Amino acid sequence: MSVLLRSSLSTRILVLVLCLVVAVTGVLGYLSYRSERSDVMSSTFHDVEDYSEMVDNILHTAMLNQSPEAMNKLVGSMSRASQVSDIAIYTAVGRPAFGTTTKPLPDAGKQALAAGREWVGEENVDNQPIYRIFRPIATSTQCYGCHQQSDPIAGVIQVDLLLKHGYERIEGAKSQSIRDAIILIIVITLVIWFFMSRTVVQPLRVLADQAGRISRGDLSVRAPEGGLGEVGELGESFNLMADELQRRIHDLEEANEKLETSIHRVADALSAALDMSSIIQILLSEALGVAEFELGLVALTDGTVYDHTRSPSIDADTEAHRAERAAATEVLRGRLEQISLLLPAISSARALYRSADVGVDELGLSPVWETVLMVPMFSEGQLMGQLVLASREHVVLSTSQRRALEFLSTQGATAVSHSYLHERTREMAITDGLTGLFDHRHFYETLEVEMARASRYGLALSVVLLDIDHFKDYNDRAGHRGGDLLLRRLATVLRSVVRETDVIARYGGEEFAIILPHTALGDAMVLAERIRAAVEREPFPQASSQRLGSVTVSVGVAVRPDDGDTVEVLVEAADRAMYAAKERGRNLVVAHEQLGVGLAAEKPAPV
Ligand code: GH3
Ligand code: MG
Ligand code: MG
Repeated sequence: MSVLLRSSLSTRILVLVLCLVVAVTGVLGYLSYRSERSDVMSSTFHDVEDYSEMVDNILHTAMLNQSPEAMNKLVGSMSRASQVSDIAIYTAVGRPAFGTTTKPLPDAGKQALAAGREWVGEENVDNQPIYRIFRPIATSTQCYGCHQQSDPIAGVIQVDLLLKHGYERIEGAKSQSIRDAIILIIVITLVIWFFMSRTVVQPLRVLADQAGRISRGDLSVRAPEGGLGEVGELGESFNLMADELQRRIHDLEEANEKLETSIHRVADALSAALDMSSIIQILLSEALGVAEFELGLVALTDGTVYDHTRSPSIDADTEAHRAERAAATEVLRGRLEQISLLLPAISSARALYRSADVGVDELGLSPVWETVLMVPMFSEGQLMGQLVLASREHVVLSTSQRRALEFLSTQGATAVSHSYLHERTREMAITDGLTGLFDHRHFYETLEVEMARASRYGLALSVVLLDIDHFKDYNDRAGHRGGDLLLRRLATVLRSVVRETDVIARYGGEEFAIILPHTALGDAMVLAERIRAAVEREPFPQASSQRLGSVTVSVGVAVRPDDGDTVEVLVEAADRAMYAAKERGRNLVVAHEQLGVGLAAEKPAPV
């Protein structure tokens, strides 16, 4: 059975059809056998009736003629008929009267005598099947066939007919039906099998073949139209499925293409951006677009946190909503450290849900945030920060969204690292290697910017120039290396004196320049004096050996717009003031404003 179940559909159909046809043919054969047998028995019955009637008639004729010899002769000759097995006549008390039989009347004969009606049935005599009749003999000419009569009975006639020939006929008919049945079975089976294989098996094979082609990526295949019944329906469903599959794959390809384009766009934008806040803005706005997140944060490892929110709808973009979002952002900002402890930095996106075992509830982020996602930002194995996304909704990310976010975080991390590098390179490019102060070029660039700003807004701006007094002497005593150390230490002194917003640069060998934005002459003079005094006080090595008993500086101060409204004029003015300070004995602060016309016109030679 299990072999049959595992066999192909056509084999199963063949076996099923065969069984069905065999069963139907068997039943039909049996019915035809029964009908043949009943025909044979009925004709034998008629024969045996005819014979018994004939004997009855002969008997009456013989009795009328008073000729028992003739009777015996007739019965004897009838008994010799090929079909007849025996004919006997019994008296009313059951004794044999004529014929060959000497045996007493059998019980069935006695029944016929007692009942006064015929008895007919099959018997077996000497292993020969016979058909037997006992026919009561009437004293009158009345019939004792089927209806019981009241007249006295003279005796009983027994006629036995051989059933051998009938059985032979039945057997012949049986063999014939078996032969016919076999032919019928073969023909019907072949017809049904042919029909089934054309209408079911073959179309199914075609479908199986096409399904195989689809599984190998050929989505253009379709089942032939117009199949019959369920096979037709299956074909239609198959085609619908193939259409749907093709549509979905097309959609998927389109979505992938979009994602790829957006990824390239972001990658390009990120690689081009060097400024940190633009990088973070690009990263956050793209990350918020990946899924339904409302708030994005980037927490860099240096402690800086940037945020970006997106209004979930136009309705939610009111002042009140913005204030609410700002408050919710602050809550999330305050929990960043705890979140990163719960979701340690691993190389993939990890989410916290309110419903999770350890979720946003425990962090006090409820009821605002339902989902908080944290994506570590790794660049070349180094953690640059965390990309944190939050939503009021329960956001479940698809695999491609997760991948997109991981891609964005990696790209973002690389851009952040490039930005750091760029910043460092830029700093190095504008920094003086010995003192760590800005260099001459950066001094001029910054001054340009500050001058433009000051003239736009009408602000004051001062420039201070200072030069170490008798530095050649110091170099001569302490050596060039000692001179360098002094320059470095002087830079530290200057840094400690000036304000955060002031820009100090090493202007030349042992000359320094300071830009003082938003500073008028009075404040500039105070600062310059503070510098001068601080330097004088500073216990530099071998300071006392200097001609003035200490390392000192001469300082010149110029202010915009009074001393000049362009970079060149203003610096020139400060330079002149500084040389005036040298001129006047050194270790002095001189404002350009204090110079007389004669002094201002020509630059004094250094002593
Ligand atoms: P003055 O009071 O007139 O300024 O006298 P001074 O000796 O300082 O004269 P000046 O300013 O003309 O001298 C500059 C000297 O500073 C020349 C040079 O030996 C020294 N100098 C310039 N740059 C460096 C440097 O980078 N390292 C060292 N050690 N010395 C430098
Ligand atoms: Mg000098
Ligand atoms: Mg000098």
